[in-house]
Amino acid sequence: MTLGTNQSRTVDPLPDKRFQRLLLRWFDRHKRDLPWRRAPDPYRVWLSEIMLQQTRVAAVVEHYEKFLKRFPTVRRLAAAREASVLAAWSGLGYYRRARMLHAAARKVVREYDSTFPGNASELRALPGVGRYTAAAIASIVFNEPVAVVDGNVERVLGRLEGKRIEGERLWQRAQAWLSRERPGDFNQALMELGATVCTPRQPRCLLCPVSRLCATRGELASNSKPLRQKKRQSCYALDQRNGSIFLVQRSSTASLMPRMWELPELTDPNGRDARLTLRHSITDTDYRVRVVDGPAGAEAVGRWVVVSGLTKLPLTGLTRKILRAARII
Ligand code: SF4
Repeated sequence: MTLGTNQSRTVDPLPDKRFQRLLLRWFDRHKRDLPWRRAPDPYRVWLSEIMLQQTRVAAVVEHYEKFLKRFPTVRRLAAAREASVLAAWSGLGYYRRARMLHAAARKVVREYDSTFPGNASELRALPGVGRYTAAAIASIVFNEPVAVVDGNVERVLGRLEGKRIEGERLWQRAQAWLSRERPGDFNQALMELGATVCTPRQPRCLLCPVSRLCATRGELASNSKPLRQKKRQSCYALDQRNGSIFLVQRSSTASLMPRMWELPELTDPNGRDARLTLRHSITDTDYRVRVVDGPAGAEAVGRWVVVSGLTKLPLTGLTRKILRAARII
């Protein structure tokens, strides 16, 4: 529940120890029990941070332990074939992250003797590790006092200070609020507050541990128009024979999901009835997907894959979703 909307009060927006104390005490009591928090070593935290980029916590929780079981150390990950890494990543989407993860693991083994660099600036030399990820790993694992900025931090700090803060200024403000004693916990606490209490819509200010220090106590006024999703239709052929499914592989030069496997797309379904329909959203586009039984066109070049081998293949997220909806995997 909010205490009001856009009612700016005169408060001192300067970070102080009270804020850190209140936030950290709340975090100690209420933090979610997430698997990567149980043993925060560099490999586990790095893996969780890469998975959490663009993926919901619940989906990451579902895949994290399985991935870790398959690749328990950075050495094992580095030694794996790319196809195996992509297959283990299936369901998390944005497969570029998996390729970068694999490349980074190889770099850690090759250039750092299998030991992760111990500070944010060196971590940024690893493929797929940007400013946010480097700061998250360095603060959580090595206790380095570097602040993180993500969407949650931006929203919480904006509301706390009663104004929109962007760009480099946001990083500076996050650094100013940071606890030097417990930087990793503080970073996680601020993000956790944004994810569970100071949510984008209807922040729960009555439950907020820092409400007495907050300038806004509600949502900041928005200047931007809500994003309108484009609507698109697509159709895929689901050809199943003798316990196998016909799949095609995306080109290695495709800008999205290169070398991943998928059902062949039909440009002209010829009035075939849909076996099932489903919705699939990708960033700004909302697809209505029809799936028809039977063969793709003669031009489709692919291969038959036995059903039991499907999950070992790097499938696109949509293909996995279709095969699940059709109760094939
Ligand atoms: Fe409400 Fe706390 Fe967010 Fe301020 S920081 S808007 S009091 S939830």
